[in-house]
Amino acid sequence: MPIDATLPYDDANIFARILRGEIPCQKVFEDDFALAFHDIAPQAPIHILVIPKGRYVSWDDFSATASEAEIAGFVRAVGQVARDNGLVAPGYRLLANIGAHGHQEVPHLHVHLFGGRPLGAMLS
Ligand code: IMP
Repeated sequence: MPIDATLPYDDANIFARILRGEIPCQKVFEDDFALAFHDIAPQAPIHILVIPKGRYVSWDDFSATASEAEIAGFVRAVGQVARDNGLVAPGYRLLANIGAHGHQEVPHLHVHLFGGRPLGAMLS
């Protein structure tokens, strides 16, 4: 079910549990600001999620309240993951779903990196 992105952060959400090590993930990157792992239900040959380590529901509260260091760290981590996984030369898609109309299901900010094949035009 899509979430209401204006609700307070829920520490029981699945990505919070992954960050705490309570649930395993297929990690591809981690630093002080971000964690990246393979999506459990990939929609492309390469489908990686990148999440900030801070408690942010969506791009909305992240962009409004995160520190400059958190924002820079997260953005740089996303780029690093793309480079590390060979996505830059062939190209890829970067996507953040936000709230109900964006069909966001997990209430911890994440961006999707899709690649590994031509992805066609946006959107359904
Ligand atoms: P959203 O619709 O942007 O919120 O996407 C949530 C994504 O998280 C979906 O693509 C799910 O397949 C993915 N997902 C949910 N649970 C897990 C998990 O435990 N590990 C990795 N990916 C997950």
